[in-house]
Amino acid sequence: MTGTSLDRFAVGLQDAQDTEELHRCDECGGEIYPGEGVYEIEGDIIHERCLGDYAKGYFEDYYTTIEDALEVA
Ligand SMILES: [Zn+2]
Repeated sequence: MTGTSLDRFAVGLQDAQDTEELHRCDECGGEIYPGEGVYEIEGDIIHERCLGDYAKGYFEDYYTTIEDALEVA
């Protein structure tokens, strides 16, 4: 999951190296930099783009098939 950001460092963008991460995303473990929008959910701080994955984990117990949901299986 960190491959993208490592690639960015390998390219050597000056501002990327000068900017210090403020936190690590509790969903993907990636860096969160100053000025980024995040979701803070019950103490977890996650990237805006990670909300979908986080929500899937959060609501995992509610996942089912349409047949089970309609009790037509
Ligand atoms: Zn993330």
